[in-house]
Amino acid sequence: MRYSQAFPKTLKNAPKDAVTVNHKLLVRAGFVDQLMAGSWTLLPLGWRVVSKITQIIREEMNAIGCQEMLMPLLHPKEIWNQTGRWDAADEIMYKIQDTRNKREYALSFTHEEIVMDLVKKHIKSYKDLPLNVYHFSTKFRNELRAQGGILRGREFLMKDAYSLHVSEEDLLVWYEKYKQAYLKIFKRMGLVVYVTEASGGVFTHKHTHEFQVEAEAGEDTIYIKPGTREGYNKEVLEGDVKQFEIKRSIEVGNIFPLGKMYSEKMGAGFVDADGSKKPIWFGSYGIGPTRVMGTIVEVSHDERGIIWPKSVAPYDVHLVTLGGNRELIEIYEKLWGEGVEVLWDETDRSAGEKLADADLIGIPVRLVVSEKTGDKIEWKERGKTETLLLDLDQVYLKPK
Ligand code: ATP
Ligand code: MG
Repeated sequence: MRYSQAFPKTLKNAPKDAVTVNHKLLVRAGFVDQLMAGSWTLLPLGWRVVSKITQIIREEMNAIGCQEMLMPLLHPKEIWNQTGRWDAADEIMYKIQDTRNKREYALSFTHEEIVMDLVKKHIKSYKDLPLNVYHFSTKFRNELRAQGGILRGREFLMKDAYSLHVSEEDLLVWYEKYKQAYLKIFKRMGLVVYVTEASGGVFTHKHTHEFQVEAEAGEDTIYIKPGTREGYNKEVLEGDVKQFEIKRSIEVGNIFPLGKMYSEKMGAGFVDADGSKKPIWFGSYGIGPTRVMGTIVEVSHDERGIIWPKSVAPYDVHLVTLGGNRELIEIYEKLWGEGVEVLWDETDRSAGEKLADADLIGIPVRLVVSEKTGDKIEWKERGKTETLLLDLDQVYLKPK
């Protein structure tokens, strides 16, 4: 991508109402744009990052045998009445009525009821289980306070997976597989996560587990057993909290062993090996890729801008050509030819402006070609000060 053609360009100032780092930096660097409170456009750079995040999640979900599909976002009221959540989830759910025939619908805030309705048509026997499915889709939630930049939206992206089983035992085996997959996912994104036990509320069979990242901008408080990455959310902790380390944190993922409540209320059962009809055991597993992007910015930045981990960076390399070398298309094309994703700043702006933008946007490697570098290329990693002068063929090998 040539920076002269990139949309949009960076901004000098952060929005006046921006409080959190992710809000300031993601808007200034041109990754996201706010339509209204809680509602964001993922601009081309932001979409590239979110796509890399979703691809990591997809690979790890596929690796445990979970199958991707896509479910609708417009839901009939009747389905939500079957579990009582049309009323019970009244505050969070956006409800709409169509003007033609006055029917009521819910805009998706989660998909448990939709999965139950689906499997009722397709799961007959114990031989059809376990079943694991997931999708990436927009969720609509009437959040009381849509704040913290893209950390809490009223419309946001979620990966939600659902698992269905013949027994509690099998549910718990899979619950552990998801937990391990989640640890891999966050590790690949360069995030240090704490796994905390939390209360699941009335719709959950047992305690749930949250994946939390320590950050000032977080809305959660977690209690960590010293020397470990495990602990509790406030709601489930009883008695003395002195022996724990207390941290502010952002919840990036949550897994729920839901049990039999949904299948019992919606009549989703299977015929077991002994011929008896039993309700399906159920679990659900969420991660918010847009919140994850915001969280990475919260924990990985400096005073100049964002520092993307390689695995989710919008491009591998930010090529800056200066002065008489500005039109050096050869390097750009050769890098792409080697599979290196390059953002190329070939504009005629000053070196100062171009280098400041490279720091703000935060691509892991900056390459500079100028009169000073001669026939070499200056290599620098974002977040480090050391520079190297390399030949073109050395640069090909470096970013991978
Ligand atoms: P929170 O406690 O932060 O309100 P939640 O427990 O209601 O979140 P879940 O239903 O567990 O959220 O959603 C699964 C994941 O979706 C969360 O771990 C988070 O990554 C993401 N997520 C939830 N709500 C939002 C939101 N309003 N904006 C962006 N991402 C969200
Ligand atoms: Mg949660």
